[in-house]
Amino acid sequence: MKRRRIYEGKAKVIFEGPEPGTVVQYFKDDATAFNNLKKGTIEGKGVINNRITEYLMVKLGEIGVPTHFIKRLNMREQLVKQVEIIPVEVVIRNVAAGSLAKRFGIEEGTQLPRSIVEFYYKNDALGDPMISDEHITAFGWASPMELEEIVTLSIRCNDYLSGLFYGIGLKLVDFKLEFGRLFEGEEMRIVLADEISPDNCRLWDVKTNEKLDKDRFRRDLGKVEEAYQEVARRLGILPEKSGDSATESENVSPFVK
Ligand code: UDP
Repeated sequence: MKRRRIYEGKAKVIFEGPEPGTVVQYFKDDATAFNNLKKGTIEGKGVINNRITEYLMVKLGEIGVPTHFIKRLNMREQLVKQVEIIPVEVVIRNVAAGSLAKRFGIEEGTQLPRSIVEFYYKNDALGDPMISDEHITAFGWASPMELEEIVTLSIRCNDYLSGLFYGIGLKLVDFKLEFGRLFEGEEMRIVLADEISPDNCRLWDVKTNEKLDKDRFRRDLGKVEEAYQEVARRLGILPEKSGDSATESENVSPFVK
């Protein structure tokens, strides 16, 4: 069956869903960095990110964070509720890394005095510029009430996910979230959307500080596929001993419920 393609992003494709109000998120192996200057593929990434996102969205749903997630459909696709994406990327940081470390001249790995929430305007042509709450409300990207809800939900996600990852020996250094408006009859609510995966989280091994996220791709650190697999393995999504790559043809069983 040929489904209508609604939108194609850098790491995902959004297709029309089977019923109104739903869409299908397809996870690609494509990876980009530095505002599209660096392009490549990470074999099996789509399959793993589909599973990791499913796992984390379900967990967050269980603690009362509303999400767009409905169910995983297959290896690379998940069914989600159609939302109106708010054009703001919310970055939550616990440890200095990446652009924050660079901007303020802080050594990567320095624990921040408290978690810091930042906003970026989701606009590739402009290179996702950093913005403040003033820009968001003045330009009407979100109302003050919506923004308050977004920040509250982001902090809850950070508290919960930090603990979840710590439990499997990973430090949640920083991560990016996106939210959308879900319309249900007369009602509108803010829900967590997009994905949560090593593509948009920095995850470091607690003991060794080894990076197990997209920085391995961004910075050419090697063992990129292995890092994504290791996160999945620690979450219990891949079998313990699987050292070799999980492609569509092999290792199918761990992905089938
Ligand atoms: N991030 C993301 N998408 C973006 C920019 C950042 O998912 O377009 C994530 C990134 O993976 C990291 C966090 O947000 O976990 C903070 O990224 P940072 O601002 O340090 O930018 P970077 O160093 O990735 O360019």
